[in-house]
Amino acid sequence: MQQNYLIRATALDGKVRAFAANTTGILEELRGRHHTSPVATAALGRTLTAGAMMGAMMKGEEKLTVQVKGDGPLGQIVVDANAKGDLRGYVDDPTVDLPLNEKGKLDVRGAVGMDGFIYIIKDLGMKEPYRGSTPIVSGELGDDFTYYFAKSEQTPSAVALGVLVDIDSSVKASGGFIIQLMPGMTDEEIGELEVRLSQLPPITSMLDEGKQLEQILEELLEGVEVKERMELQFRCKCSQERVEQTLVSLGREELQSLLEEQGQAEVVCHFCNEAYHFDEQQLQALIYKTT
Ligand code: ZN
Repeated sequence: MQQNYLIRATALDGKVRAFAANTTGILEELRGRHHTSPVATAALGRTLTAGAMMGAMMKGEEKLTVQVKGDGPLGQIVVDANAKGDLRGYVDDPTVDLPLNEKGKLDVRGAVGMDGFIYIIKDLGMKEPYRGSTPIVSGELGDDFTYYFAKSEQTPSAVALGVLVDIDSSVKASGGFIIQLMPGMTDEEIGELEVRLSQLPPITSMLDEGKQLEQILEELLEGVEVKERMELQFRCKCSQERVEQTLVSLGREELQSLLEEQGQAEVVCHFCNEAYHFDEQQLQALIYKTT
């Protein structure tokens, strides 16, 4: 079963724009890299799925960063996405562990916090990136992205995001959808959609049953036309070369003291947790490069 993909579709004669994503495999990769606790996995996964779909709203070389900064113990959640389906992400504190909430579910709201902001930074290839932000209204994240689309992008949307974590803490299912209403929908059509949304089973149980994203959208909408089906993949931009450049940019003095005090250096990429080691000789070579 294909686990990392996204579809972009229209429905109701173009009056609805829809995105749906399955990020199960990518979230499992992130969990392995960052050793996230179940609630951290759930919060990261919901943000990852939102990021994947917002990335699919971009074009060409455009890039997007989603930052969720709440006042909860998780700290910030950061996800990078682009139009090619490349994804990476992390949370500040992956070890956060909380009791289940009153519904017996992972307490994403408790981990994220209810005070704070969602920031969307879009690199559109211009000099300055576009920045949008809206306050956190729920902390469960789906409603927070719904609020973002309504307030910041003036697009009425329904956002569903879900993560199912297995007993052994691995990711059983992760995915979601965004339904966006374009002008021209009648009140009757909106009412019908609201009823269907309220009756739809949780996205994670549908994914766990092996349902395809196309089937899920068809349960919600009339006349679904899939415009694009693309693969999603974990990809980090870090490399030995980039890390070397960063070290060189610290300057001669800084590197010299690093060499004298520690005799080596280790740089860990925030996004993928990959560690890059530099021994004495390699540091010397970098110091030489700063001249
Ligand atoms: Zn990396």
